[in-house]
Amino acid sequence: MLNYRNFIDGDWRESSRPSLAVDDPSTGAVIGSIPDSGAEEIDAAVTAARRAFSDGPWARMAPTDRAQVLRDLATVLESRFDELVDGLISDTGCSARMCPMLQAGAPLAHLRDFAEMAPLLEKPVPFPIQSSPGFGQWELHREPVGVVGAFTPYNFPLFIAVWKAAPALLAGNTVVLKPSPLTPYGLDAFALAAKEAGLPDGVVNVVHGDREAGTALVEHAGVDLVTFTGSTAVGKRVMSAAAGTAKEVILEMGGKSPAVVLPDADIELAVRGTLFSSMMHGGQACVATTRMLVPDSRYEEFLEALARRANQLVVGPAAEFTTDVGPVVSQAQREKVEKYVSAAVEQGGRVIAGGDRPAGVPEGGHYVAPTVLADLANDNIAAREEIFGPVLSVLRYSDVDDAIRIANDTQYGLAAAVWSSDVERARSVAARLQSGLTWINDVAQAEVARTPFAGKKQSGVGTELGADGLFGYTKVKSLYTALDENLDARPYGAVGSEWE
Ligand code: NAD
Repeated sequence: MLNYRNFIDGDWRESSRPSLAVDDPSTGAVIGSIPDSGAEEIDAAVTAARRAFSDGPWARMAPTDRAQVLRDLATVLESRFDELVDGLISDTGCSARMCPMLQAGAPLAHLRDFAEMAPLLEKPVPFPIQSSPGFGQWELHREPVGVVGAFTPYNFPLFIAVWKAAPALLAGNTVVLKPSPLTPYGLDAFALAAKEAGLPDGVVNVVHGDREAGTALVEHAGVDLVTFTGSTAVGKRVMSAAAGTAKEVILEMGGKSPAVVLPDADIELAVRGTLFSSMMHGGQACVATTRMLVPDSRYEEFLEALARRANQLVVGPAAEFTTDVGPVVSQAQREKVEKYVSAAVEQGGRVIAGGDRPAGVPEGGHYVAPTVLADLANDNIAAREEIFGPVLSVLRYSDVDDAIRIANDTQYGLAAAVWSSDVERARSVAARLQSGLTWINDVAQAEVARTPFAGKKQSGVGTELGADGLFGYTKVKSLYTALDENLDARPYGAVGSEWE
């Protein structure tokens, strides 16, 4: 049993709070517990982070020196890579063929890639043309914001912790991380690595818990910036709670991203790419293209290929190498997915693959058969809401304008894919989509930490990753130095001209 403790001010702390059970999604067996922390634990962590920010060396170190600490963190995590992968498989239910790359390898690559961005913080921000340079000189410096409160979702715990902590730390901030209560392992591993890599006490803190801890973190007056990744519903609550103390916010939220198939698309590529995107990690990826728009002219052909391929996917325990689609994270998540499928059918949808519980899987695990829903109108619940399970929704369209109208008729704007053998045509469609991350003839591509995530509409506020994402963890100081002491050249006489 893994009985997690909070990591505060460089040490693991016992908590007198009740605990919450953590299970293995593949079996349903309880494998650990976390403290259901509250305001007291959050306050201890924020106080430690504040002290480390104001009094410790971290914020004053050169960005290149902090970058070296990020590389050390990656080295420590890498030194126990196999253990990390095993822990993340039983924690998240991510399949053994995806987990090493996606849950463990990618965070290491991102830590190292962010470290390479340190020079961006060393250069002063270029100043626009100065009108009277003789009087004085302006310099703009990027400074850390202060104490960062970071919320991570359950699907990619270590990965998204790195997306937040790496740029925040590189910029000189200190961090309090609040993991999802469902998947605590990755952030505990991150805390352990922070300790071993020699981060000063209080620079990284991890407080486990659920809503009470989350609310306390977002409302705490000692937190300067809240960075949240999770559902749109909770993100909006976080944004409004952050307003109480006028905190900076970065929100990366949900999606219902379209895959627009143009009439000349390569069927093999579009079908395999879209099934990969919507089924990998049990359909629990924010940028999954789960709303496939298929032209009338090729509708039946695509449905046949989607159903055939979806039925071939092997559902099973995450640790098995034969598994294509593992479980969803919890019993509650499975029930939520099943309710969406029944509601979609009640509203006119048709199940062409899956739609039930798969056979031959461990009894207590949270499995859902890979499901394809066809004939959905865009007001069907399965076309509008993020399901977060292995469910692909298929809609038909008449012409390209119709496809773009349907694609954009959503509250979300996280990602999109366009499939066509005419790249220029695909680019002109991509330009009209209200989406942040947009791929042509592919899915899930990103250039390590360099590709910004900037979800549009209710998918995002601010930017994560890339130089823009890094700068989100800084504030600009505008510093003016007068270059002479000539009183006559200043407007001070407008006030108190008769002074002796
Ligand atoms: P969630 O919104 O339920 O939880 C996210 C975090 O907020 C967790 O740490 C949770 O404990 C905390 N939380 C929950 N209620 C809270 C409250 N009232 N106040 C403060 N904190 C609270 O999300 P989830 O189910 O863990 O993750 C799935 C969601 O994350 C999906 O919507 C997915 O699209 C989204 N996601 C988005 C991105 C992105 O980059 N846009 C990436 C990954 C996941």
